[in-house]
Amino acid sequence: MRIDLHAHSNVSDGTQAPADVMESAAAAGLDVIALTDHDSTSGWAEAAAAARKTGVALVPGMEISCRTAEGISVHLLSYLHDPAHSGLLEEITKAKDARHTRAQRMVTLLSEDYPLTWDDVIHHVAPGATLGRPHIADALVAAGVVEDRAEAFGSILTARSRYWVQHYAPEPALAVELVRAAGGVPVFAHPVASARGRIVGEQTYREMIDAGLAGLEIYHRDNPEEGRAFLRRIAERYGLLVTGSSDYHGAGKPNVLGENLTSAEVFARIEELGTGSSVIR
Ligand code: AMP
Ligand code: FE
Ligand code: FE
Ligand code: ZN
Repeated sequence: MRIDLHAHSNVSDGTQAPADVMESAAAAGLDVIALTDHDSTSGWAEAAAAARKTGVALVPGMEISCRTAEGISVHLLSYLHDPAHSGLLEEITKAKDARHTRAQRMVTLLSEDYPLTWDDVIHHVAPGATLGRPHIADALVAAGVVEDRAEAFGSILTARSRYWVQHYAPEPALAVELVRAAGGVPVFAHPVASARGRIVGEQTYREMIDAGLAGLEIYHRDNPEEGRAFLRRIAERYGLLVTGSSDYHGAGKPNVLGENLTSAEVFARIEELGTGSSVIR
């Protein structure tokens, strides 16, 4: 079984429509894929219809952007939650709205130095999609300012850049609690991805575990080898599930579907634990 539990469509910052992600999953020889768009479940219906057509099983999911009190970014994957759960829905709606205002502020700052308008950015965003820096990056690529998204993130769009603006994001333990309340299975995404910014210490893991964290995404290209040993110890000590995934973004990132996989045993456990929605086969 080839199981990849982390992929994005153009409902957030991936470049393919949900149905096309499912087609790509079939072409990559996957048996199971999770659609985990940032702060949104809007792609589930289209992906579900395509799952039945392609024969690839769909795990409905989401990736929630969180921030600790110290200001460290944490991404939380949620599988099989109820998309209509009011507490969780309120949080992600608040975050999505804040992302919109934040992107506008960043574009205003960037437009002082680069040929960039709000319309240029919107041109790269599918209707209703969760807005992120990758969309601003796409507009900067189109304007000839940078070569690709990676170059934008390595320079003017980093969190250390003077154009960077923060947006509302829930604390990780709150997000874990809400995912559980919505019947979902919370998994800490790429926990030691130090190239993206500061990473959290053991105390944050404990808080997330106390709130109901179910697993750690250990096999992800952004987790360096040193960090993986630490993650294996945490997983063992606290009895957490271990997953592996690609974090596919279509043409938006070099990550390819199936480059990291999750075992059939762990997938079965996730399916048992998730009660808010079902795997679509
Ligand atoms: P934001 O959530 O708007 O702050 O933007 C962060 C998103 O940008 C993450 O979800 C990543 O998927 C994406 N991202 C981060 N680094 C890169 C990179 N080097 N190339 C392409 N996308 C990136
Ligand atoms: Fe992303
Ligand atoms: Fe992420
Ligand atoms: Zn992701």
